[in-house]
Amino acid sequence: MRHTIPPRSGAAFTLARGQRLTVIDPEGEQVADLLAFSAHDTDEVISSGRSLDYASRIFLTTGDALYSNRSNVLLRIVEDTVGRHDFLLTPCSADTFRILYDEAEPHRGCFGNLAHALAPYGIGPDRIPVAFNVFMNVTVDGGTGELAVRPPLSRAGDRLVLEAETDLVIGLTACSAPQSNNFAFKPIQYEISGPPDAAGA
Ligand SMILES: [Zn+2]
Repeated sequence: MRHTIPPRSGAAFTLARGQRLTVIDPEGEQVADLLAFSAHDTDEVISSGRSLDYASRIFLTTGDALYSNRSNVLLRIVEDTVGRHDFLLTPCSADTFRILYDEAEPHRGCFGNLAHALAPYGIGPDRIPVAFNVFMNVTVDGGTGELAVRPPLSRAGDRLVLEAETDLVIGLTACSAPQSNNFAFKPIQYEISGPPDAAGA
């Protein structure tokens, strides 16, 4: 079953060990911020720092692991039709739009959408870390370290597939930041598939 996250919104759901999460960009050039928490102890959470450290790269793709703050593998990338995602930048937020876009009445952004979606799981906003930003295209100048947010390389129908290595609570958005999505807000879709004994979970 394919689920749709409307533009500038978010969702949270559980993903059982062995199940696969497919994140789909239905129209192209859209970003999805992905968070993962251990369903058994939500103090265990996806860690950009550990994942990039252990990969010794900032661009992760097929075969790479998304580690937790306790150095356990939460998710592994098993298919990637784009090959460019970001794991450096924080979820966009009202503060992002106030500071970077100079908006007087900013949208709550992915951060607010994630906080809202994760609240029923007992996860508060101060526990939201750097997300794995699916399809987000952030380039880095190797000399100065300067970052630039570019239009995503994803085209309509592109996908990233991740397999859960433990039971998880997932947060996922259709990103709200103009620059991240080449200045057009679009939906994100996702599917959950998995071993027969986990079907319907
Ligand atoms: Zn965002």
